[in-house]
Amino acid sequence: MKREKGQLIVLSGPSGVGKSTVIAELLSQRDNVYFSVSYTTRQPRVGEQDGVNYNFVDRAEFERMIGAGELLEYAEYVDNYYGTSLKAIQDRLDAGVDVLLDIEVQGAAKVRARCPGALFIFIIPPSFEELSRRLHRRNTDSEDVIAGRLEKARVEFKEIPNYDYLVINDKVAGAVEEIEAILTAAECRVENRKSILTQFA
Ligand code: ADP
Ligand code: 5GP
Repeated sequence: MKREKGQLIVLSGPSGVGKSTVIAELLSQRDNVYFSVSYTTRQPRVGEQDGVNYNFVDRAEFERMIGAGELLEYAEYVDNYYGTSLKAIQDRLDAGVDVLLDIEVQGAAKVRARCPGALFIFIIPPSFEELSRRLHRRNTDSEDVIAGRLEKARVEFKEIPNYDYLVINDKVAGAVEEIEAILTAAECRVENRKSILTQFA
């Protein structure tokens, strides 16, 4: 069933919790979801592709985008800019496609203020120690950067009460199943099924 408007879904969680891993699995299982590829000034990690994981730009280009009002939201996170292109997501939502944002808590707060109909999901690890293990196992960041990300995680956890749903990424399949359930429930909302209701009027 074609929907008039797509659902905007915001997924936040500390760096290393497994957001990218869970999102990749979710996208392979679910149609009609577009992952918003953010802009960032951070350096690509090994295996990351420009235009796929992020659009990698320098600070001057990012600041131009801020000035031109091209971003729905942006934030500075551990010394780098990250932001969401407004146009790319608006076109999809207008076409009835769900749009998934993987953004940190300051950006999520901006989306909450600008897009009241969006759905907010926070993803946590089964324990703080496991978060540290995952950041080390990923093997992409220096000890200093990992320490910064763990410190940041403690601040981010304080924002959880502002989210609608809490997903625990213990096993990837379990986290994906929980997000699938949230998206399916959102699809079943009366306001999202107005088109089928016309024949019962
Ligand atoms: P994020 O996108 O949140 O920064 P990643 O998806 O890069 O996190 O995952 C961080 C590390 O944790 C990666 O090495 C990934 O393979 C691993 N990982 C992700 N989910 C799980 C899980 N449920 N159990 C164990 N390891 C996981
Ligand atoms: P990483 O460097 O680990 O890929 O991402 C660091 C943090 O930036 C993560 O919490 C991620 O959710 C967040 N992030 C990624 N893209 C965006 C974005 O477009 N806007 C905001 N505000 N945060 C983002």
